[in-house]
Amino acid sequence: MEEKIKLHDREFILSITASQIQDAVARVASAINRDMAGEDLLFISILNGAFMFTADLLKRIGMNCQVTFVKLSSYRDASSTGIIKELIGLNEDIRGRSVIVVEDIVDTGATLGRIMDQLTIHNPKQIRVATLLLKPDVFKGKIPVDYVGLEVPNAFIVGYGLDYNGLGRNLEGIYEIV
Ligand code: 5GP
Repeated sequence: MEEKIKLHDREFILSITASQIQDAVARVASAINRDMAGEDLLFISILNGAFMFTADLLKRIGMNCQVTFVKLSSYRDASSTGIIKELIGLNEDIRGRSVIVVEDIVDTGATLGRIMDQLTIHNPKQIRVATLLLKPDVFKGKIPVDYVGLEVPNAFIVGYGLDYNGLGRNLEGIYEIV
């Protein structure tokens, strides 16, 4: 694995190795396997960033389960001037089901809050959250994050699904901006 990489105009250094990531993924998977045995389980993966974590996580889930992928579309609301983030692409009926939202990183928790609001209205049996990464120093959300792979400091990171202006998602490790 490269120690230093360049994406566009910025340099990044390796901060979490591929094997540390895989250990974290395994820990999250075994907690889910333990807690969710016997549930009608649906994973909802938030694109784009969570695609790689979702793939590795799902390989380690030992019970029957489904997975679907959704996206957040951002648009400016003319009446409130705020940015509205709407969940698009959810075709499954989640009523009465056990849902696990799969996120790459939870920073302030604002995005997660929006996602939870939009899922709750469909009356699932329960919603849990699994994120590979959490920035605890920035997190202001009220939503409990049930499964956290690794806590990271408040710095901009890329790799393993996370991008910098479109680049870096393919990296096996996680890199921090210099
Ligand atoms: P939040 O709404 O929790 O503040 O932000 C969550 C979203 O911001 C993540 O899903 C991710 O898209 C983006 N994000 C937050 N921190 C980072 C980071 O360090 N690197 C990258 N590439 N994206 C981040």
